[in-house]
Amino acid sequence: MQLLKQQFINNQWVASKGTCLLDVMNPYREERIAQVTAGDEADVDAAVHAAQQAQPAWQSLGGAARAKYLEGFADALEARRASLITLSATNNGKPLAEAEIDLEDAIACYRYYAKRANALDARQGERVDVEMEGVEARTYHDPVGVVGLITPWNFPLVTSAWKLAPALAAGCTVILKPSEVVPLPEQALAEIALEIGLPAGVLNLLNGDGEGIGVPLTNHPGVDKISFTGSNRVGEAVMHAASARTASVSLELGGKSPIIVMEDADPDQAADWVMAGIYFNAGQICSATSRLLVHESIAEALYTALAERMDALTLGDPLVEGTDLGPLTSAKQHDAVQRYLDTAVEEGLTAVRDGQHRTLPDHGYFLAPTLYRDVPVESRLWQEEIFGPVLCARSVASEEEAITLANDSAYGLAATVISGNAERAKRIGKKLKAGSIWYNSEQLVLPETAWGGFKQSGIGRELGPWGLSAYLEVKHVVGPA
Ligand code: NAD
Repeated sequence: MQLLKQQFINNQWVASKGTCLLDVMNPYREERIAQVTAGDEADVDAAVHAAQQAQPAWQSLGGAARAKYLEGFADALEARRASLITLSATNNGKPLAEAEIDLEDAIACYRYYAKRANALDARQGERVDVEMEGVEARTYHDPVGVVGLITPWNFPLVTSAWKLAPALAAGCTVILKPSEVVPLPEQALAEIALEIGLPAGVLNLLNGDGEGIGVPLTNHPGVDKISFTGSNRVGEAVMHAASARTASVSLELGGKSPIIVMEDADPDQAADWVMAGIYFNAGQICSATSRLLVHESIAEALYTALAERMDALTLGDPLVEGTDLGPLTSAKQHDAVQRYLDTAVEEGLTAVRDGQHRTLPDHGYFLAPTLYRDVPVESRLWQEEIFGPVLCARSVASEEEAITLANDSAYGLAATVISGNAERAKRIGKKLKAGSIWYNSEQLVLPETAWGGFKQSGIGRELGPWGLSAYLEVKHVVGPA
């Protein structure tokens, strides 16, 4: 069994000052596969000190030089492809094909920000047109400084890449804190830092939980910014802690995203996109389109097509090719989703599929893919992020009703619109309050386009030029021409 009792600080693995160990599980086998330190405030102090020492030289290196290291991360991840996919599937419970997507998207992100780091040098000192005569003004983009990056367990390689790649491109030095639930895949980033000769202190990786590492990191006066991906409950705590020293935060939080299917859609094609939007990673995806709004004239046909596809899903060992749905990633998440299923029974919801006729594997934190129809908008299942394989559906009488109900949410992370008329789908999409809108498509995540939420889904954007701006301060130098 693997023991993660060490922290990666200043390019060295050093013993954590934390004395408590947490179990890391294989959710399919329900077996402990590792133990990880809970971490300690003293670990955070040492990592922040290393990052502070390293930051000026890393900034001075310039974007083009930093770009080479980002390419190095991409190449080294590529070289570890097979082992990382297996590790992700084992620790997270996601099927191999989904673990591959986590890796692929991460690699694409490092390569994308290598390009943007290269372009950053040419943007330094750009002249700004000012109306006042005899005055020269130039724009510079300085790194924010030392940043704390906190990631969740559902897509470890991608959520860390979306922070680490732009932060390093910008010239920030970082302290990365993986989730204690799925800490194994991100350990490779520290190995890679050594392999590619990243200067000491630029990337520090601290293992631990919220109490041991997350809280001292967000409270640390030496940390200039926190970029957090995770739950709203913790996101609010992070924002509160950062406000005490007016530190900047980026927050990527939860969602309860709608998927709209209009009457001119092909129910079979629509069913494929609906399935991909909710049962991918067993529904443990922030952008899961977990609220289905279907036009009443095709609702029955769509529910039938969905039920057929749900029955055909193979639940089983994530490491076996052909598995569609793995277990939930932890017993805690399994139990949290089960509580929603119990609430559905108490609320008397109508199930199209609720797992009653399905035999689950005899071990693993499995839940059957579930679909409720005619769900009242007051239902907790309609309103709250469940983060599991649970789809709630309602029929609508018109486009206007679909838009109103889609926007009637505390969240605004993503949405999908399906219509036989692409122009109509785009028009509906423009009226939705969410950061990512897909039309007639599965969820395409592109490094060039922004990721982030309206309303309670977060603050700020990752990916694209916006993701880089999150780690840059704008500075103007002004004086006589
Ligand atoms: P979580 O909030 O429980 O944990 C996230 C991270 O925060 C972990 O590393 C955890 O150790 C750390 N943490 C816990 N308490 C902390 C504290 N008080 N201070 C600082 N750090 C602390 O979330 P999770 O269960 O790991 O992930 C699931 C959630 O993440 C879902 O709500 C999902 O929607 C969200 N998510 C959002 C996005 C997005 O891009 N918007 C992407 C992935 C996941």
